[in-house]
Amino acid sequence: MRGVSHDLKNPLGAASGYAQLLEDGVIGPLTNEQRDRVARIRRLVLSALDTINDLVELSRADEGQLHITRTATDVGKLVPEVVADYQAAAQSAKLKISVDGAVEHVNLQTDAKRVRQILGNLLSNAIKYTPAGGSVHVRLQEKTHARPGEWFAIEVRDTGRGIPEEHREDIFVEFFRLPDSHTVASGTGIGLAISRRLARLLGGDLTLDRANGEGSAFTLWLPRT
Ligand code: ADP
Repeated sequence: MRGVSHDLKNPLGAASGYAQLLEDGVIGPLTNEQRDRVARIRRLVLSALDTINDLVELSRADEGQLHITRTATDVGKLVPEVVADYQAAAQSAKLKISVDGAVEHVNLQTDAKRVRQILGNLLSNAIKYTPAGGSVHVRLQEKTHARPGEWFAIEVRDTGRGIPEEHREDIFVEFFRLPDSHTVASGTGIGLAISRRLARLLGGDLTLDRANGEGSAFTLWLPRT
């Protein structure tokens, strides 16, 4: 799996680089229409790369090789940074994105890279599956009484179409996508499965809080201790 993915990723990565050079006009000027088509080529190549990366992560997970490296991490600082990374994507999808940064200096022993990966997945889903004009909101909370133990909860809500109650657990199964999702956005159905596995490796969990109609709300639970 890893050998094949290497052979696929290298040429696709190079192709995306050449498309970027064309798009930036480094090779010569392009008309607006040409630039638009080159940008599409690059986006499609990048989406193929994302799919390959997802498949590699999944094969790692199956081999028990998803690695976690815990260090002291200020999650109160990390979360707004990740949200800022998605600002441009939200803007081009005509969505408002905001973060409730009431919690500062939350130092947890966790894997910052994995927290970014999980949160990035939740945000990119929220942006993909929420129609223009909607909003995505992230809230950080200390939740001592919600479940046994002390928890730090990162909640991502959107005003999209929501997830039907009967599929609330299916969405965490590899390759599952809601029946009409392919008409809305491309995807592999791997992101949430990997994210939940990672959350559990971090000693926490990833749950869907709200199903049906009013948009979706996911919570990433991280242990305080
Ligand atoms: P992908 O987005 O690549 O299909 P995911 O594993 O991230 O895969 O999500 C699985 C499915 O759950 C998606 O295909 C979609 O049907 C549904 N889903 C995930 N996030 C949302 C969301 N915020 N709003 C509505 N549906 C969602």
